[in-house]
Amino acid sequence: MFVEQEWILKRAALTPHHIALINLTSKEQWTYQQLSEEIGKWSQFFERQQLQKGSRVAVFARNHIQLFAVLFACGLRGLIYVPLNWRLSMEELTQIVEDATPAILLYDEASHCPLVLEKMFSLHVSQHEKEIQPSRQDVDVNDPWLMIYTGGTTGRPKGVVLSFQSVNWNAMNTIISWGLHAQDRTLNYMPMFHTGGLNALCIPLLMAGGTVIIGDKFDAEEALQATNQYQTTISLFVPTMYQAMIATKYFQENQFPSMKVFLSGGAPCPHPIYDAFYNKGLFFKEGYGLTEAGPNNFYIDRERAYAKKGAVGKSMQFNEAKIINLTGQSCAPGEVGELLVKGKHMFRFYWNNKQETANILQDGWLKTGDLAMMDEDGDFYIVGRSKEMIISGGENIYPQEVEQCLLRHPDVREVAVIGVGDAYWGEIVTAFIVCPHPVASILDDLNELCHQQLGRYKMPKQMIFLDELPKTSVGKIDKKALYKLVDSSIC
Ligand code: ATP
Repeated sequence: MFVEQEWILKRAALTPHHIALINLTSKEQWTYQQLSEEIGKWSQFFERQQLQKGSRVAVFARNHIQLFAVLFACGLRGLIYVPLNWRLSMEELTQIVEDATPAILLYDEASHCPLVLEKMFSLHVSQHEKEIQPSRQDVDVNDPWLMIYTGGTTGRPKGVVLSFQSVNWNAMNTIISWGLHAQDRTLNYMPMFHTGGLNALCIPLLMAGGTVIIGDKFDAEEALQATNQYQTTISLFVPTMYQAMIATKYFQENQFPSMKVFLSGGAPCPHPIYDAFYNKGLFFKEGYGLTEAGPNNFYIDRERAYAKKGAVGKSMQFNEAKIINLTGQSCAPGEVGELLVKGKHMFRFYWNNKQETANILQDGWLKTGDLAMMDEDGDFYIVGRSKEMIISGGENIYPQEVEQCLLRHPDVREVAVIGVGDAYWGEIVTAFIVCPHPVASILDDLNELCHQQLGRYKMPKQMIFLDELPKTSVGKIDKKALYKLVDSSIC
């Protein structure tokens, strides 16, 4: 027996009657014992399908507790679990399937899977298995267990291969650094084809013996009600979900006494969201991560999070982080540079892409492509993606700073700032703004606000008002779509 591969079965033996998973919509729930039996059935099924070690098991399905059984059974059989983003176009899916070459595809009926593979089965197929004893193959701690295709916020999706070591160390480090335990409960609406819906909280909490409640289609009111109904203690949402939550009557009229912490991650969090939670006496903080590293990398406690809105804190107990300048030297406090992270939670490689792996992973350090800054106390702040930094008239401008400034106007709901090519300036600061009021009445206010709070060169030269901002399938603001919008309007 190799414990890295089957800690979930050991967990089930320790707390068989504790609730592991609940499906929010169907109300179906599994104890750890039931989860372990479902894993056993899937492992038997995989054995009968004669899938070789290292084969890819593609899964096209909406969020459901059954997906955890498939994931852990893949681990037992040395198979690579490849969750597919069901919101992608057929062309994008085809690209991924051609890259991953799965031996088998599992799908749920609700997702209307458009893919056709020689071996494909409904997620109900495991119910025909009589045998619940786990079936195993030998694995090594460095063998791949999970391959997640990145969201493609900045480019073509890449298959991020995570080994047992990557997944387990991220989980253990999260449990230890964040203090998770068996009494914790999380509500997860983050898509389970993304690291946010698997590694960020769900897998760590299952390792700790806690309870994971799975939501599927995000609804702000439902999420808040479920938080109280299921007495959840820690949950992660992306900022756009929080934006929708704080706008509900339910949020304004209710308290959330069971919640120890609301976590935001995946994208910069507008400061008015912090304020909405702080005003209710709730603990709210930001985490930072990426598919390739964990995703969890930082921890900040309540006291520091309150004092330093927007800081992600210090690197977790078993991780390292540093910020380097263009010459590769460590940045002084206050200096912006590229964030590098290191630890056993690191991914192994990009599938079929040695060059990209070599570009991003150097001496065990992952070049995140994000810009960050550290203060005098050693707390880190994420400043933005380096690819999105705007250079206008030779000056560096970080979109996030301009976005946070515009968001201070109470009528501004959402903002995204990008650099648009300009013959004279190189790039000009362009802000996309969502606000419910007529444009003319707010434009002067926004210019005044920027004038007061930003250096002149950072002020947006264009403000474009939209009814809503485009979002990626994870709910992040889709800047790639905004660049395209500007390009097409120029043509
Ligand atoms: P790509 O497909 O280009 O790799 P992605 O957004 O799909 O992008 P993810 O791994 O999902 O890739 O997200 C990681 C990225 O999300 C980080 O590199 C960073 O840019 C952003 N991010 C995560 N947390 C935060 C945060 N707290 N503040 C700002 N940005 C964040």
